Amino acid sequence: MARRLAAVQQRIREACARAGRAEDSVALLPVSKTFSADAVREAHALGLSRFGENKTQEIRQKAAELDALDLRWVMIGHLQTNKAKDVARDVAEVQSLDRIDLADALQTRLAAAGREIDVLVQVKTSPEESKFGLAPDALPAFLAHLAAHCPALRVQGLMTMAINSDDSAAVRACFRLLRELRDAHRSAAVPLARLSMGMSGDFELAIEEGSTEVRIGSAIFGARHYDH
Ligand SMILES: *Cc1c(COP(=O)(O)O)cnc(C)c1O
Repeated sequence: MARRLAAVQQRIREACARAGRAEDSVALLPVSKTFSADAVREAHALGLSRFGENKTQEIRQKAAELDALDLRWVMIGHLQTNKAKDVARDVAEVQSLDRIDLADALQTRLAAAGREIDVLVQVKTSPEESKFGLAPDALPAFLAHLAAHCPALRVQGLMTMAINSDDSAAVRACFRLLRELRDAHRSAAVPLARLSMGMSGDFELAIEEGSTEVRIGSAIFGARHYDH
């Protein structure tokens, strides 16, 4: 894992250099979904402390097992509204906020718990049926709703998953759309400073298009085996 992590970090630095960006302008979010608590422990020993997951149940189990470590769990997967209570208890940040009923449920549960969390709004930039996210033209009204009704959700920026394709122009277009949406809809009150885009297979393109955070699973942890 140390070798794979170092290789990813090197590729991030090189992509930043190619894009004329500062080396520290892109954060790394390791994605530990489907990997064991022991794998997270190993990653923590290598200096990582935030981890992306896509199931609240899996966060609960790993958080319990790794209670002694100071970890921040980041939800990056599609969230059912009935999981808002689990999020309010266990999650430091949600990057997959994509609809008003979910925002309202999180607001209610967080207010009850006396907590605030960082959120990114997930936008659907790819035509694929399988991708979740808010429609781009719904973004302004959604941001206005969050500002007016959801003070426990601190809006930090936008997140997307690009189309799954070998056509790098099509992938790049998804990332570019997210950046353009950010530029069009940021304000002094909500600067949308963060753009979470790029995964193991496409993060270099994302960095060239302005990503501030890449979400990397398999390139760090190895191949995933889905058995649940
Ligand atoms: C699984 C996942 C990732 C990481 O994918 P890899 O290809 O393993 O790097 C990133 N973002 C989201 C939303 C994911 O679900």
